[in-house]
Amino acid sequence: MATSHRILLTGANGYTAQHILWELLEAGHSVRATARSQSKIDLIKKSFSKYANTPKLDFGVVPDITVPKAFDEVLKSTPPFDTVVHTASPFFLTSTDPTVYLEPAIKGTTEILENIVRVAPTVKRVVILSSFAAVATLHENPISDPPKVYKRDDWLATTLEEAKLATNPVVSYPASKKLAEEAAWNFVKEGKGNFELVTLVPGVILGPVFDPKQIEDPETLNFSTWQIYNMLLKPGVKSSDPVPPTSIWQYVDVRDLARAHLLAVTKPEAAGKRWITVGGEMSHQEWANYLREALPEKSDVIPIGEPANIAKPEGWFTYSAPETVDVLGLTYRTRAETIKDLAPQLAEFAAKAAAAPAAA
Ligand code: NDP
Repeated sequence: MATSHRILLTGANGYTAQHILWELLEAGHSVRATARSQSKIDLIKKSFSKYANTPKLDFGVVPDITVPKAFDEVLKSTPPFDTVVHTASPFFLTSTDPTVYLEPAIKGTTEILENIVRVAPTVKRVVILSSFAAVATLHENPISDPPKVYKRDDWLATTLEEAKLATNPVVSYPASKKLAEEAAWNFVKEGKGNFELVTLVPGVILGPVFDPKQIEDPETLNFSTWQIYNMLLKPGVKSSDPVPPTSIWQYVDVRDLARAHLLAVTKPEAAGKRWITVGGEMSHQEWANYLREALPEKSDVIPIGEPANIAKPEGWFTYSAPETVDVLGLTYRTRAETIKDLAPQLAEFAAKAAAAPAAA
């Protein structure tokens, strides 16, 4: 019989984390889900009613992940934790203040690792949700000859000193992910933790929201889903609008990434490694094409752009991560499936936004 793990999951109310929570629970593991407030926990409880009143799922509030001993209380458990999955970290590109990204990403990571050592030494594996932005240098010229092929040994070059001075979030957000992940690897290399580390390195995360009923206002969607909504379906968008150019082509379906987390928790081979989780490459134009097909009733809304113009510019960077399939054992959905399952949700969110009274 497969081993049942006792897992602490941080940022459990997040877009990705709710899918992770589902994967872990459906696989028979017992999870303590944390969020920043009780109201966010209450939303999870509603969406996870199948598990909320069972011994498989309990909750903890961590109001500020950057303060010393932030995780001490939630790390105490009977039975004790053997696994921690850390996903809580800011992702948006709207602030020019680098500290809003750097502080929670880096301190949140070092704090949980230090707290594990002190309070939960039974933890044998820590899985951290990093980002392809920690691997690739996205803010520089994406084109080279030959094209750069990013692999899991690559690291974004930005240093902490550079990141602290950056006012461009396209520099400071990726740096927050790189420096947080690097801090975790250094922690392990320095022999400070008695646990195995696994990091997951996804491209842009897309696909359906776990429970669309939670979304009262589409402006509260997680950043990657909001970007698609904002570009292609938000009230006011018209079919004659241009399709914005694509800067990051690498994407992954949120459900595949959630399954990658389950594999990262359970597979012995996952330990001590970074796993690039990218299901393929896709442009905004392809999103527009697929959405127009999936939502014919929105043909006057979703930008037409240049439907045939879907080729990646020559020399644009790419990625290579066969080990994620061959060793970790992850399989990926098709892009059509990713879009088909998100499209009706986006249409529903747009209808909600159109029906909402205009802000005073
Ligand atoms: P969400 O915004 O839905 O979830 C982020 C989670 O982190 C939420 O629980 C959020 O809590 C928490 N969080 C954000 N800022 C802070 C903070 N300052 N202190 C404590 N907790 C915080 O995002 P996603 O699901 O999209 O992202 C999850 C993870 O995946 C992040 O680590 C992100 O960097 C990474 N990632 C995302 C990609 C994407 O395309 N979406 C691509 C690659 C990596 P709250 O709800 O209270 O704000």
